[in-house]
Formats: sequence, C-alpha cells, structure tokens
Amino acid sequence: MKDILSMTLPELQEAVQALHEPKFRAAQIYHWLHVRKVTDFAQMTDLSSSLRTKLQDEFCIKRLFIARKLASSMDDTVKYLYRLPDGQHVETVLMHYQHGWRLCISTQVGCKMGCQFCASTIAGYVRNLEVSEMLLQIDETERDAGISISGLVLMGIGEPLDNFENVLRFLEMLSDPKGRTMSLRHVTLSTCGIVPKIRELAERKTGLTLAVSLHQPDNQSRSQVMPVNRRYPLPELMEACQYYFAMTGRRVTYEYAIMEGENDSFEDARKLAGLLSHQQAHVNLIPVNAVKERNFHADRQAAQRFMQYLEKLGIHATVRRTLGSDIEAACGQLRHEADLAETGEE
Ligand code: SAH
Repeated sequence: MKDILSMTLPELQEAVQALHEPKFRAAQIYHWLHVRKVTDFAQMTDLSSSLRTKLQDEFCIKRLFIARKLASSMDDTVKYLYRLPDGQHVETVLMHYQHGWRLCISTQVGCKMGCQFCASTIAGYVRNLEVSEMLLQIDETERDAGISISGLVLMGIGEPLDNFENVLRFLEMLSDPKGRTMSLRHVTLSTCGIVPKIRELAERKTGLTLAVSLHQPDNQSRSQVMPVNRRYPLPELMEACQYYFAMTGRRVTYEYAIMEGENDSFEDARKLAGLLSHQQAHVNLIPVNAVKERNFHADRQAAQRFMQYLEKLGIHATVRRTLGSDIEAACGQLRHEADLAETGEE
C-alpha cells in the first residue's frame, strides 16, 4: 500500500485522477493529512464514503509508536524512542526554549558515517527514513506532548545529506504554503560534511541554517575520528561552507564536541581560529556525551575554557546549554539499547 503521507500535492493529484476522481479532491485530502493531521481516512468527512473506501484500499496513513519516553526531571526535555512501522527504532528529542518548543529529529535508522564518538554509528546503519517518518516524528510528538513546535533541528540519528532526496522532499512538504507552512528559517540541518551535497543545498537556497560538525581542527586528527574527512578533507569542506554563505547569505554554524586531551588545547583553538578566519563563524561547543563503548569524556569547564581561548582569538563561541542532562544518553544510545534488548545481547 502506498504511503500517502510521503506524497506531495502534485503526486496526490495524479493519484486521485487515476482513481477517476476530480483533481480538487487531492487538495482536500492533503489538507486533512498535513493541516488537520488526521490519522484515519474515516475522519475525512467531506469526502464521499466511496472515495474513502477507495483510498483505504490503495493507501495507508503511517503512524509511529512510542517505544520509550524519558522525561527529564530537571527541565522540560523529553526524549522519545519511536518504533517505525517495520519495527526499527529512531530517537526524537523535544526541548523547551525561551521562544517555544524545538524538536530534534532523526533522518536515518543508524548511520554509515562512522564518527568515533557517536552512538548512532555503533548501532549500525539500516536504512533511510521515508518523508512520512520524518513528518511523523513531529506530528506524534506534538500529539503526545500537546504542544506545537516552533523550531526544528535535523540533528538526531543519521546523516541528513546521506538521505538527500527524502530530506529535500521533507523540507518542501514542511514549508508547503498549501500544507504545513513552516518557515525553513526555523530549521537547522547538521552535517558531518558531505561536500557535494552542501553545495547542492546552497544552490537550492532553502533558507535553512546549516550546521557543520567539525570536532577537530586539522586534517590528520579529523580523519582519525571522522572517516568522512578522508573523502572530503577540511579545505574542501571550508570552501563549501563559504559557498553556502555566499549563495544563501546565511552564516554557517560549527559544532565542536570537546573531548578532553584530544581537541581542547590552546593549540587546537589556534588551528580552529585559523580555519574559520575567513568568515564570521559561530562555534557551538558541546562537552562530549560519554558513550559507553568509547573513551571520550569532557566536562562543562573544559568546554568553557576552550570557549575563552576562542574568544581571545576573535572567534565567537558558545557552550551549548545542556538540556535534559539526566536523560542525556548520547544520541543514538536508546536505539542501540533497543536493538540489544531485541537480540538479547548485553
Ligand atoms: N550526521 C549529522 C547530524 C547528526 S549528529 C552530523 O554529523 O552533524 C548531531 C551532532 O551530534 C553532530 O554534531 C555530532 O557530531 C554530534 N555528536 C555525536 N555524538 C556525540 C557525542 N557523543 N557527544 C557530543 N556530540 C555528539
């Protein structure tokens, strides 16, 4: 059965015409799905019952199920482990900010990128998420929490630019004036640095904010922790970032996870400042989340010390507010645990 939530309005129009129905029915259905967000064809009360039956025979409206939900006792952060229709799992994190609710969604089941410090990689890559599965992380969370989100980050499990086609369609549907109408100015996409896709994204001028995960300030050490750097080394990556800024007028944000003794010396700060000297960069410092299988660690003070180094060198940096630190199983960890529980491993 066709996944109707992944279909754009023009695709739906074609499908409706193939069912010998007038084209305008598609707009009604699209409105029910993406504005009213119904979960059942029976709820589409302005369609004839014969059309509703036809739709039911041809299409399904997917759902995600909450496999686990961890609410922070320190702030309003909630972490969801969602079960997908095929039994796979992804994580979604809801955070409260001054200006409203922000959601961090996953784009793949697992990840191929192999970053050493990341739990999403340890649990392995399975598949890309469908457009509907990205949209549903928003819908199911909004339904469960009784809120509506005002910001979105593609920073959960997976590499969004490795699921490029679906992510672009997702963004298109998210911002569709006939549907969900979310401004992409409120969306941030985080990448480990797939250079050709950064350039393509720049050319599409979507208006979203690009965040790039750097984590090491020179080629040799970055290649050791982030294999993607061997394919797309730092000079090429920095050029692509400058191209993104030139094309879109949007400043690129850089993510730098502090790992004590690995990337937090003054010399590292100096190299990083050199790398970013050609642009008005903003660096987000995150004390690395300890992942059980890995040895990296850092505390907030280490991140603050590094921030001061950077400020001295004229680079604007912030230490990311740690929300929900009591449930801060590093990204991908919940999915990893769910897999282990299913296979009975320890
Ligand atoms: N694949 C994308 C987006 C998902 S990861 C990317 O690489 O940007 C989201 C962010 O979390 C990235 O900056 C990633 O490097 C970072 N991250 C992964 N594991 C981490 C850990 N253990 N501690 C802190 N940050 C981590």
